[in-house]
Amino acid sequence: MTMLDTQNVPRTPDPASAPLYRLQSVTRTYPQRGRVVTALAGVDLEIREGDFVAIQGPTGGGKSTLLQILGALDRPTAGSVVLAGSDIATATRSELGRLRAHEIGFVFQGFNLIPTLTAQENVDMALEPLGLEKSERTRRVAEALAHVGLADRADHRPTELSGGQQQRVAIARAIVKRPRVLLADEPTGNLDESMRDEILAVLQTLNAEGLTLIVVTHDSAVARRAGRRLRLEKGTVHEITR
Ligand code: ADP
Ligand code: MG
Repeated sequence: MTMLDTQNVPRTPDPASAPLYRLQSVTRTYPQRGRVVTALAGVDLEIREGDFVAIQGPTGGGKSTLLQILGALDRPTAGSVVLAGSDIATATRSELGRLRAHEIGFVFQGFNLIPTLTAQENVDMALEPLGLEKSERTRRVAEALAHVGLADRADHRPTELSGGQQQRVAIARAIVKRPRVLLADEPTGNLDESMRDEILAVLQTLNAEGLTLIVVTHDSAVARRAGRRLRLEKGTVHEITR
């Protein structure tokens, strides 16, 4: 796997600095057929730069809700979610858009690639909002694909790639903007064991380089690699100590 150039080497975590995320009393409720469902019930949580956090727990426990809030795709009903100085709970829509475009990479179970576009074009899309020069975009896209070991697949469409390769394109799309954090919701859920190991290796390399990872997973092989494990059950977070 090709290493990033020095510009892409992430910031060295400073233990004395403020956490990357600080969540205080985060609640998220949904109206459901005349009643109110509580997906998150007062979550307090800090995540530091460079952490590799696995989030586990039963279906319906609130994992996807939490990840969507961390990803500025949703807001809490109450409480605060500060990411690098911006409060997702109270930020304007344009500030949420800026956070998603610049600071947060998202990887989904189903890859979510655009089938008519090549790997290169899928990755390039993430750079659209950044207003970079064409030459800089081309350079960054090539670098991101090389970083996930797909330099030789740039012209392939998703149907011409294996599941593991498609998920690596999705990871390249998430990191090409050089985000502060990579969020992944069941990134290996659709993959067999060998492809799962392939994705795990990529995630571990990124984390070793300093990228903060927050991964929702049912896969204990993935969770074992994480430096920190959380269990989310009935909307409440528990730290799992080993
Ligand atoms: P998990 O990802 O751990 O399975 P979710 O965060 O998806 O859990 O869901 C937590 C709870 O919130 C569940 O009871 C679910 O039904 C409810 N929920 C999640 N999203 C919505 C929504 N958009 N509308 C209504 N209820 C929702
Ligand atoms: Mg879920």
